[in-house]
Amino acid sequence: MNLILLGPPGAGKGTQSKLLSERFNIPQISTGDILRENVRDNTPLGQKAKDYMDRGVLVPDELVVKMVSERLNENDCSLGFILDGFPRNIEQAMALEETLEQDAKRIDHVIGIEVETEELIKRLSGRRVCKRCGAAYHVTFNPPSKEGLCDSCSGELYQRDDDKEETIVERLRVYDEQTLPLVEFYKERGLFRKIDGAGGVEDITSLIVGVIGK
Ligand code: ADP
Ligand code: ADP
Ligand code: ZN
Repeated sequence: MNLILLGPPGAGKGTQSKLLSERFNIPQISTGDILRENVRDNTPLGQKAKDYMDRGVLVPDELVVKMVSERLNENDCSLGFILDGFPRNIEQAMALEETLEQDAKRIDHVIGIEVETEELIKRLSGRRVCKRCGAAYHVTFNPPSKEGLCDSCSGELYQRDDDKEETIVERLRVYDEQTLPLVEFYKERGLFRKIDGAGGVEDITSLIVGVIGK
């Protein structure tokens, strides 16, 4: 099963992708996580991407598209994958179609998680992320059992640089301008499934599982 999780920053794409990845035993491909690893390791890709990420704007398509096509070619994607944070604009969506076509693959469902702006800002400002495995926590909505430490790998939790207020506002603007048009794009292809992302983490997982029919 090949899935795309679509939604604004803070909607819960990362949280849900991780849970679905464990449940269906298919990899989560988070372009944000891969880019942050590259920035941390100071790779050539990381050096090119860092400034865009700090500003809350999209990293250029050619860098991200190449990164995702390479990842999709790895063996663990043969039985399915969950794209989290990609595609982010129409150009990326068209590039993805092309990559998948070459492999005789296609997307089965695009899960659009909808959450209102005020709630997104609360979620993003309280988010803490595991340095080691990328798992997301929230200081009040989803705190770890031991403060500052990841429940699943004991990694250290930190606050992302782009989770400060000015950058959050810019990221939400970029989402409306560049990513939201993908809703129509995937509706036209009959793939779009809307999910109300306002409830608790487990309720939303159940909604998604219901929609994809497993
Ligand atoms: P969030 O989960 O909060 O929406 P991400 O971790 O997905 O944020 O993305 C963080 C940053 O990484 C983005 O603001 C952008 O700079 C970059 N990024 C991630 N995915 C993409 C993508 N598909 N295309 C371009 N830039 C991306
Ligand atoms: P995205 O990947 O879409 O940016 P995340 O999965 O990182 O979103 O979640 C953003 C923040 O909101 C995190 O702090 C996470 O713990 C929290 N969160 C995720 N899902 C929910 C939910 N259903 N209710 C409340 N908080 C949530
Ligand atoms: Zn961890």
